[in-house]
Amino acid sequence: MSTYPARALVDLAAIRGNAAALAAHAPTAQVMAVVKADAYGHGLVPSATAALAGGATWLGAAQVPEALALRRAGIGARVLTWLYAPGAPLREAVEADVDLSVAAPWALDEVVAAARAAGRTARVHLKVDTGLGRNGLTPPDLGELLPAAMRAQAEGAVEVVGVWSHLAFADEPQHPTVRGQARVFADAVAAVEAAGAHLEVRHLANSAATLTTPDVHYDLVRPGLAVYGLSPVPQLGGPAAFGLVPAMTLEAELATVKRLPAGHGVSYAHQYVTTQDTWVGVVPIGYADGVPRHASGTQERPGGPVRVGGRTLGVAGRVCMDQVVVDLGPDAGERAGDRVELFGTGADGGPTAQDWADAAGTISYEIVTRVGARVPRVHVDSAAAGEGARVAAAGAAR
Ligand SMILES: *Cc1c(COP(=O)(O)O)cnc(C)c1O
Repeated sequence: MSTYPARALVDLAAIRGNAAALAAHAPTAQVMAVVKADAYGHGLVPSATAALAGGATWLGAAQVPEALALRRAGIGARVLTWLYAPGAPLREAVEADVDLSVAAPWALDEVVAAARAAGRTARVHLKVDTGLGRNGLTPPDLGELLPAAMRAQAEGAVEVVGVWSHLAFADEPQHPTVRGQARVFADAVAAVEAAGAHLEVRHLANSAATLTTPDVHYDLVRPGLAVYGLSPVPQLGGPAAFGLVPAMTLEAELATVKRLPAGHGVSYAHQYVTTQDTWVGVVPIGYADGVPRHASGTQERPGGPVRVGGRTLGVAGRVCMDQVVVDLGPDAGERAGDRVELFGTGADGGPTAQDWADAAGTISYEIVTRVGARVPRVHVDSAAAGEGARVAAAGAAR
């Protein structure tokens, strides 16, 4: 474990369990585990495989290359991909049996061309902007596109199998836009069916809606964050409240432990100054590894939390590119090589990705997805026995 001084342990048993919990939250729907952005930083293929083992039946990938990587790894489950620009490798996607979202007229044209070139039918999910104001066809644009989509279906180039959309306020379940978007969505589904599509899946719910708003589950739910065991609605409850277990533990070994006298500045610009003779520890992980610089600390306001032994200490001073410092106090017994944890399951009272999000003024999504490329993902399986429990996958994880 010492080739790299810091690593992200990813517990595949947690991902399996979270997928199962999400399936239980949405008993009338299938589960699409969203694995975009390297499975929110957890490692694409191992995470996708674990989510499928836990009961997900679809995978969601934002980008075409992510979907193709799943196929190259031998994963045969349904895969939807949705965010591409003109010129994307859609023919490869059709040949790889990947479902494609269509969110604009040009995209329909390119999917049809890709299907003709591949000599097979492309499965299409029409993306409707029901109010988010981001990607998707507005209802009038959908109306204009439908005749062309149905002509392409008649020709055999595409089959419209899905209608889908995304919520603006899923994390505020009582927000009136949730109901409003659901109404617009129902109208869009009706319009597409009236045009002659035989829909296989209608889908609207991300993690927050999967956990809090059953009436928008439809045929398929699309959780991402919750698959990795983090709460999309921290103001309503942490992971445990929803039966989820955080999968990622970010850990390191102390690189240096040394004495500093009272009144000594710590790290760049001496934003933190020791108040007594003390021991400080250098943790070899920094903002290049995804530790947010906004979670730097001062004496008045401790930085992001670091678990050292049984104690949780705030980062002392500025977060640097490769390292942070913690003030271990005058009686510290720690030594170089001791393990520290930046975040994990929180089960033992230790810090969580949500705590880091709070310290940095962001959301837990950003904490896990920004763990840097330099940090090896080590996939472990807490449900497996003995030596097999720890599968060293450093480097190969992505
Ligand atoms: C990322 C994403 C999701 C998953 O969102 P979470 O909040 O992580 O559950 C679902 N649908 C779309 C379109 C997305 O981009």
